[in-house]
Amino acid sequence: MTVRPDQSAQMLSAFGTAARLLQGDDPLHLRLHRFFDLLRDTLHHRDTRLTCWLQSVGPGSTRQQYYSADAWPYPWDDRLARAVARGGVIARRVITLGGDSAGGSQLPAVRAAYLGAPIMWGGRLWGIFELRAEDVDGLQVATDELINGLLPQLAAVIAREGEYPSGQRANERAGDTPTGLTLRAQDKQQLVALNGSLDEAIDLHALLSLLLRRALEVSGAETGAVALVDHERAELVLHTCEGFGDEAGASLQSGPRQRWSVETGLAGRVVQSGRALLVRDVTVEPGLHAAGAGLRAELAAPIVIGGRTAAVIILSSPRSNAFGDDQLSFVRALCARAALPLSRAMHYQEAIESSLYLGQVFSSLPTGLALIDIHGKVLRSNPAWDSLWGLHGRVVRESFHVSLDLIAHLLPRLHDPLSMTQFCDTMQRSPAKDLITTVHLTHPAQDLEVRSVPTRDSKDRITGRLWAVSDVTRERESDRMKTEFVSIVSHELRTPLTSILGYTELLLNREFPPDERQQFITTVYTEAGRLSHLVEDLLGMSRIEAGKVKLNRWVISLTNVLYELTTQLNTQLMNHRLLIDIANELPPIYADRDKVKQIIFNLLTNAIKYSPRGGEIQLGIHEARPEELPAGHAAGRWVLVSVRDQGIGIANDDLPRIWERFYRVDNTNTRRIGGTGLGLSITRGLVELHGGQIAVESELGRGSRFFFTLPVANELAKR
Ligand code: ADP
Repeated sequence: MTVRPDQSAQMLSAFGTAARLLQGDDPLHLRLHRFFDLLRDTLHHRDTRLTCWLQSVGPGSTRQQYYSADAWPYPWDDRLARAVARGGVIARRVITLGGDSAGGSQLPAVRAAYLGAPIMWGGRLWGIFELRAEDVDGLQVATDELINGLLPQLAAVIAREGEYPSGQRANERAGDTPTGLTLRAQDKQQLVALNGSLDEAIDLHALLSLLLRRALEVSGAETGAVALVDHERAELVLHTCEGFGDEAGASLQSGPRQRWSVETGLAGRVVQSGRALLVRDVTVEPGLHAAGAGLRAELAAPIVIGGRTAAVIILSSPRSNAFGDDQLSFVRALCARAALPLSRAMHYQEAIESSLYLGQVFSSLPTGLALIDIHGKVLRSNPAWDSLWGLHGRVVRESFHVSLDLIAHLLPRLHDPLSMTQFCDTMQRSPAKDLITTVHLTHPAQDLEVRSVPTRDSKDRITGRLWAVSDVTRERESDRMKTEFVSIVSHELRTPLTSILGYTELLLNREFPPDERQQFITTVYTEAGRLSHLVEDLLGMSRIEAGKVKLNRWVISLTNVLYELTTQLNTQLMNHRLLIDIANELPPIYADRDKVKQIIFNLLTNAIKYSPRGGEIQLGIHEARPEELPAGHAAGRWVLVSVRDQGIGIANDDLPRIWERFYRVDNTNTRRIGGTGLGLSITRGLVELHGGQIAVESELGRGSRFFFTLPVANELAKR
């Protein structure tokens, strides 16, 4: 499907107008002239030719050619038409007219665009439709949808002209009625009276209802239905019915349409034979059954478009003598008269459905879409567009411009306003370019990828742009994590492994004095510990993420936990002074002892690691005053633990990100220090599992203060 949303309305109206111009009782050449003129208004080509073979009632067929008025003096080249007929698909060429190539013509040589379309319908070639344009690129853009949509209408006109030449319309199809049958005078009048309504009916449902009602009235049948033929699935699809009670009508409105195989029923036989059929008593006819209780007589007739049955009108009656030759003739004539309007209505329906379908796709896509005019004004947008840019609930003014209003709306969150402005500038300066950019938003962090492509009208003129916005935050984040993971694995795994392998190789191959041996083994042990720590962190992280960590909670005293911790940390505290400040009468907490140890251990080791020149590390623990709790913290009694260092500190931009997995501030200090970027995200996960919160304050070059809360024991026991 290549219909652009801005074109579908134009095409719909072109189909409707073309159908109106092609029908009627005027001589065919007049109707075609009007049709050619309409087409020229739409496609802006130079001239048109229609070659067709009229299958007259008698034997053989006659070739006719129709040319648009105000024809170009250059003769048409029949070889091209023959090639199109052989090819069976729309063909486009750049051709040279006049000069030597035009068979001695005196006209100057010009280059032109040529488009030839075979009029195929129902597996048969009805004619060749050709267009020429002075502009070599002119017909490249003539949409195939438009031409393809018009071809069946032309086929129907040619078919009808062959069977009933203009001016002498027959009342019935030759060949499928017993000879000698004619319409009764009153039936003829009914048919003539119907002309206007049939020509006006463009809506498929209205047309089929009209046909059915008239068939019921004239035939006197008690019940009737119209089914469309689904050739692909060899099935009939019930479209309209009358006289079967309200229930049948209601289920037709709401439920899926009733379908049945063309192998069954009288209507199926009609599809297979292409002929109208009449049965006086379906209850005694083998292979048939009544459509409703008490029904006996059934009459079914095909509406044939392009040699194929497109629909079947089915009439039934409890009276076995209800239908005779008069009713059969009328229904046949009605069906023949309905072919062109039905073909037009089916195309109209198809075009409406494809336009509705496009509209639904537009609205339901998770990608934010907006059609923008050449000045940057939003003409139409989908709900995802509003939600991705956070425009919900915002009163969007009548005219909303991407370069002004969108940027103004985003300004507080735009990480780099200049690049967004430049993007809009490039869009203005190069309207034909496909553009793409990533807009980084902050608070909360979000990466939006914006694609902007030009939109064009049927003459290939740029009408504006389509903006497509998608949220790529997760992709970018997982890309970054993948890269970080690889670099961490290569560094944090390789370094200890290299020393372990190096030292063990030495120990295996040579004898060393006991002191040296001891030193090597200690190094191997320390490095293996580092590896085990990394594995623990990775496992810990994935277990927290998978929600698999269960807390083993008890009422515990933080003072005891600290005692164990400081003993464990003693070896690392060479250049640092650890000051511990625990409030008197600190209430016990309700927590998982090992996890609390891990939280404080992580923060203290970070404080040591990231203050390489030594200094003081303060560990403070007291019950939090309400004003000390971070914004949005749950109410109640909480113990506040804080770890303050005098180390390298963290830049403001990095502060929100240090909690992310594998995120490491990138500077010479941190690169030298090493780490996995997992510690803080595990720490945060563990604090939050306890219901607490963790936060940080830091100043670059002066130090950081990490603090978190844990619930007081009796407070939790109360809940
Ligand atoms: P790791 O220390 O293994 O890199 P973390 O998740 O513990 O991973 O910390 C993430 C990043 O936060 C560190 O790389 C570091 O840049 C920064 N960071 C953590 N703690 C401190 C601190 N006390 N002082 C300065 N920077 C810190």
